[in-house]
Amino acid sequence: MVITGTTGLAGIIGDPVSHSLSPRMHNAAYAAMGIDMVYVPMRVDGADLEAAVAGIRALGFVGVNVTIPHKLAVAPLLDGLHDSAVAAGAVNTIVRDGEALIGHNTDGEGFIAALEESFTPDYPSSPALIVGAGGAARSVGVALAEKGIPSLLIVNRSRGRAEEFQELLRERYPHLEVEIHVSSSLDPDSLRERRIIVNATPLGMSPDLKPLRLPVDRLSKDQVVCDLVYAGSGRTPLESQAIEKGAATMGGLGMLLHQGAAAIQLWTKRKPPLEVMRQAIESRRGDIPQAP
Ligand code: NAP
Repeated sequence: MVITGTTGLAGIIGDPVSHSLSPRMHNAAYAAMGIDMVYVPMRVDGADLEAAVAGIRALGFVGVNVTIPHKLAVAPLLDGLHDSAVAAGAVNTIVRDGEALIGHNTDGEGFIAALEESFTPDYPSSPALIVGAGGAARSVGVALAEKGIPSLLIVNRSRGRAEEFQELLRERYPHLEVEIHVSSSLDPDSLRERRIIVNATPLGMSPDLKPLRLPVDRLSKDQVVCDLVYAGSGRTPLESQAIEKGAATMGGLGMLLHQGAAAIQLWTKRKPPLEVMRQAIESRRGDIPQAP
């Protein structure tokens, strides 16, 4: 990579960012696309977020990804929000539009692209279940609703966020049947007739967050279990439970790839090289902390 006086700036803000796979994935894409741009990780403390956004503005960044814990707090510091960020209630991508910084969310688009890459195109006719009601859950729920799924069950440990998510979906998609179940675990009945099952919580992400347990006796080979958490090697513990029962699975790396590709498309207006990006992620899988 040769950095010159005209090299464009992109990057990711969050805390921590040291294990992020995004710098490797983005820089590989820019090199393959022949784009004079560099992507840097920037650890930003919550107390410095406003100053960081002012810096992004002043330094002329083309675009910036936003990760935990700033996805919500960054929204009011921007000049506007795209509908994807309004629906998710969170920003994962900032796009410069002239002098303005606009917040987007590419997680939902990334999830659907990953799902469609791996599974049959008839999934929109199937009822779904999402565990979690945070930004990622909302992005995925809205994206599935846009695709026309008939019903969604939201399982979340706290009632407030589950109800907000339910309300959002009911307002936007009056024909979607939305139920909530307040719990940190999945009961066997919740899986009935739910073909798409998504873990959108951090459970299983780190040694202190035990994986979500699936009531595996109710799983069948017709179901697709999607874990937004990603594994350092092979599959996540949740995927392993599902595979034992013959269900299909999807880990979080596909979504990571496609949400990144969607960000590049927003910043450069060009189609990113997916295979190059996929290889860049695969080569750094060992950097991901292992789940218990
Ligand atoms: P978030 O906004 O903080 O939401 C987290 C959700 O998980 C909330 O519904 C929360 O419940 C629930 N939760 C947290 N800890 C829990 C626990 N110990 N037991 C039960 N439920 C718990 O986070 P997010 O941005 O949506 O991210 C969620 C996960 O998705 C993270 O692991 C993130 O890394 C992953 N993700 C992956 C990708 C990808 O590209 N693969 C993209 C985005 C996010 P309450 O509402 O009760 O707090």
